[in-house]
Amino acid sequence: MSTVVTRFAPSPTGELHLGHAFAALTAWHRARDAGGRFLLRLEDIDPTRCRPAFAAAIVADLTWLGLDWDGAVRVQSEHLDDYRAVLARLEARGLVYPCFCTRAEIARELAASAAAPHAPDGAALYPGTCRRLGPAERAARRAAGQSFALRLDMERALAALTEPLTWREEGEATLPCHPERFGDVVLARKDAPASYHLCVTHDDACQGVTLVTRGIDLKPATAVHRLLQALLGWPAPAYAHHRLLTDPAGRRLAKRDGAATLRSLRASGLTPAAVRALAGWPDAGSPAPAPP
Ligand code: GLU
Repeated sequence: MSTVVTRFAPSPTGELHLGHAFAALTAWHRARDAGGRFLLRLEDIDPTRCRPAFAAAIVADLTWLGLDWDGAVRVQSEHLDDYRAVLARLEARGLVYPCFCTRAEIARELAASAAAPHAPDGAALYPGTCRRLGPAERAARRAAGQSFALRLDMERALAALTEPLTWREEGEATLPCHPERFGDVVLARKDAPASYHLCVTHDDACQGVTLVTRGIDLKPATAVHRLLQALLGWPAPAYAHHRLLTDPAGRRLAKRDGAATLRSLRASGLTPAAVRALAGWPDAGSPAPAPP
C-alpha cells in the first residue's frame, strides 16, 4: 500500500486560531495514524496580505502544539519560477489569456449586463471581456506596459480534456466536477505571479500529497483543482473536506471576529494538550472537553 502523505497549508495572513489547530491536527493524525508523512506548507503568494512575522508565528505555534512535519517547510514565495513555468506551459497551449481589466471595469460591466452569474465561492463570474481581445490588441497593451492577470480560458480548457473529470472524496461516491461554474479563473494575479488555485495544485503534485484534508469551505474549488491536475498531467489526490469549528452561536471561527488565537490560549496558561483537546483532538485516553 502506498504511503499516505497529507499537508497543512495555511496562508500567513494572521495568527492561528482553534479552527486552524483542528485542520492541522486532522492532517497530522491522518498521516501519523497511517505511518505516513505530514507536510507543512506556507501559502504566502499574496504580498498584500501575507507577513513574514505571521509565517514565523505559525511555525512556532504548531511546534508548541506538539506537531512535527517531514522535511523542510515549503514556502510558496520561494518557488515563483516553478509557477511561472506552469503558466508558460498553459499559455503555449492557448489555455490562458491576459486580462487587463481593473476590478472597477469588471464591476461596471457586470452591472450593465442583464445576468451576472456567480461562482460557488460567491464571486461574480468574469464576463470574459479580455478573452475576446485579438492578438494584436493583446500585444499592444502588453507592449504599452499595461498590467494584466492571466485567466484560464475555461471553455478551451474543458475542450482539451480527454476524459470526464471526477474527484475522489472520502466517504462519498466519486464526484463529478463542474469547474465551469467558476468561469475563467485567475491563475496569475496582477500583483502576484500566481494564484491560489495554481500554486495549491502544483504543490500538492510536486510534494506527492496523496490525501488533501482541508475545510469544507474549499470543497467547491476542488473542481478547479482537478481540472488543472488533468490539464497538466498531475496525479489526483483523494480529498477529505472536514467541518469547520464554530463558536457557540454556530458561526465559523475567524480571526477577524476575535476567535481566540493559539497565542492567547497559550498565554492564558493552557497546556498544548488542553488546546489540542479544545481543537477537537483530545489525546487518546483523555475525555473530550466541552467545545470552545
Ligand atoms: N492556504 C489555504 C488557506 O489558508 C488553504 C489551502 C488548501 O488547504 O487547499 O485557506
